[in-house]
Amino acid sequence: MTAPHARRVLLLAGTTEATALAGRLVGAGFDVVSSFAGVTSAPAARPGRVRRGGFGGTTGLVDHLRREQVDALVDATHPFAAVMPFHAADAGRAAGVAHLRLVRPAWSEPPGAGWVRTADVPAAARVLAGLGAERVFLTIGRQQLGAFAGCPQWFLVRSIEPLDGWATGAPVARPQRIEQLLERGPFDVAGELAVLRDHRIDVLVAKDAGGTATRAKLDAAHELGVRVVMVDRPPAPEGIEVAATVEEALRWVGSRIGD
Ligand code: NAP
Repeated sequence: MTAPHARRVLLLAGTTEATALAGRLVGAGFDVVSSFAGVTSAPAARPGRVRRGGFGGTTGLVDHLRREQVDALVDATHPFAAVMPFHAADAGRAAGVAHLRLVRPAWSEPPGAGWVRTADVPAAARVLAGLGAERVFLTIGRQQLGAFAGCPQWFLVRSIEPLDGWATGAPVARPQRIEQLLERGPFDVAGELAVLRDHRIDVLVAKDAGGTATRAKLDAAHELGVRVVMVDRPPAPEGIEVAATVEEALRWVGSRIGD
């Protein structure tokens, strides 16, 4: 007698939630494939199987779901992934595969903090002059650094990967006056206070990623009276099932394809 094959979950990864969910699903007996875009050179090891690289748009993802006999698709990409969530929603529908988006809630603003909200990163670059910014802490990663290329301010840029020599080999446009800080979260308030003080930061630019791993900079900025420019999340697909936590996503998988 052959054992029934474990139910297969394709997990679109790239977040701490995706890593945690992979572990919980593998522990529960699911056959989990974590998929990475291939942007970060060396993602940390994780339970289950791993694949890397794009699928080739919605059509490629539909083919993949069918070919690999995927039972459930969980999109746990970053809240700022602007394309993949739409591909996942459309492909899940087209292939008839159960689909969930796992996305953590947006951050809430401390009372009186007066965050300046912008629709996107270029808009964040445009508001700096009006805020009288001189020394700016940029925590938006490195891919959209070019938006600040024409800005006269001094920038401290924190990213996981160095600004040079990244995956595509393409030159990265950047501001003239810049210092790199290569660090991977999580960060704590004491450390973030030190970063803001040591570099005499007057404005912090952040993307509304949500979650706890990178929240400390906002609390540190509030404590020091550093202005915050918060970039809002991109539009997301509507009419899909959404979970806010790993626990919720785990329950969803169990209810949709568990025994
Ligand atoms: P995106 O703009 O939504 O997607 C661009 C393309 O990258 C997609 O069309 C897809 O290519 C491919 N892709 C994205 N996520 C993938 C995945 N998990 N597995 C396989 N292919 C994937 O995404 P992004 O903003 O570039 O983010 C790429 C990855 O970095 C995601 O895994 C995301 O979770 C992670 N990440 C993003 C941010 C951010 O701020 N955007 C921050 C932290 C982590 P095809 O069309 O060819 O399938």
